[in-house]
Amino acid sequence: MGTTAKRLLAWFDHVQRDLPWRRSRDPWAIWVSEIMLQQTRVEAVREPYKRFMAKYPTPRAFAKASDDEVMVAWRGLGYYRRARLLRDGALRVADEHRDTVPSDLEQLSALPGVGPYTLGAIASIAFGHCEPAVDGNVERVVSRHRGFDAPIGTGPARRAIREVVLGWMSQDRPGDFNQALMELGAIVCKPTSPSCGECPIAKDCVAKRKGLTDQLPVKKAPRQAVEVSSRAIVVQKAGEALGYRIPADQPNAGQIELPGPGVLHDCDPDDLKAAILKHFGASVTVGEAVASIRHAITHHRITMTAHAATVRRIGRLQWFSLGSDTPWTTPSRKVFRQSRTLDA
Ligand code: SF4
Repeated sequence: MGTTAKRLLAWFDHVQRDLPWRRSRDPWAIWVSEIMLQQTRVEAVREPYKRFMAKYPTPRAFAKASDDEVMVAWRGLGYYRRARLLRDGALRVADEHRDTVPSDLEQLSALPGVGPYTLGAIASIAFGHCEPAVDGNVERVVSRHRGFDAPIGTGPARRAIREVVLGWMSQDRPGDFNQALMELGAIVCKPTSPSCGECPIAKDCVAKRKGLTDQLPVKKAPRQAVEVSSRAIVVQKAGEALGYRIPADQPNAGQIELPGPGVLHDCDPDDLKAAILKHFGASVTVGEAVASIRHAITHHRITMTAHAATVRRIGRLQWFSLGSDTPWTTPSRKVFRQSRTLDA
């Protein structure tokens, strides 16, 4: 085992956080936790993870979940697309691998929703393969430690970082090694003000030696945020509201949205009635604005104004319960709260 791996593992054994998924080597549990942890804080994952594993302890159990059940299981975590991909992957494992997550790298990487990072995490932690798991934390640690100035996320940076991780990797404990590197990025080599004094691999860190920790890693120029407006209507009756299920090819697919001319489209309030008729075949009378909320989708910063409305013909719209089991989008829930349709 190389010096870097030895230092990292000794440090990890000493400081690692007690997280529910670290108590398991079950590949399904590891798969679930790794998907949940993508773009989500560890603390936000603890409770949803426990709830999820109690309800869906095997791939087959989750494979049978309906779209609505997937949304409910994933509530609080956001980025629902990854949940549906996990369900698709679970279905494949249940059907083609007798409900056993395959240990073979090729079979694992062929599963829906298993990209290079997830592959590395499951393969190393559950099966002991020497496969790097490079997430944003690892990219930051390696870029700083080796003084890489290629923007992270680009092909050259990805290849260089993978090579370094492979060179450092412990052959005896690849899963712990990957987790140690991620943990170092999460709690010591943080995005701002890294705690180099507590770092087990500070001795030969290029960024520390050259005083470049606040300049590395180099990031790609962020996409400019675009301000847009949209409009929707709120039609309700006894604990239900009119909505539609977002189609598969759109952001937040499968969730329920308030009717409007489209998430990124505005229209004059006077034209809203015609837009609802055109999009959903529904005949409505549009009233006063009852809520104005802000939300973001990718680089769009959206202000959505919702109008109270009454309906004569619902067309392709449907009535959905306002209860917590209906996967209303976050913007819709914000509208309900602001217009006092929901208490929570
Ligand atoms: S010494 Fe500092 S910059 Fe270098 S890897 Fe450690 S925490 Fe990150």
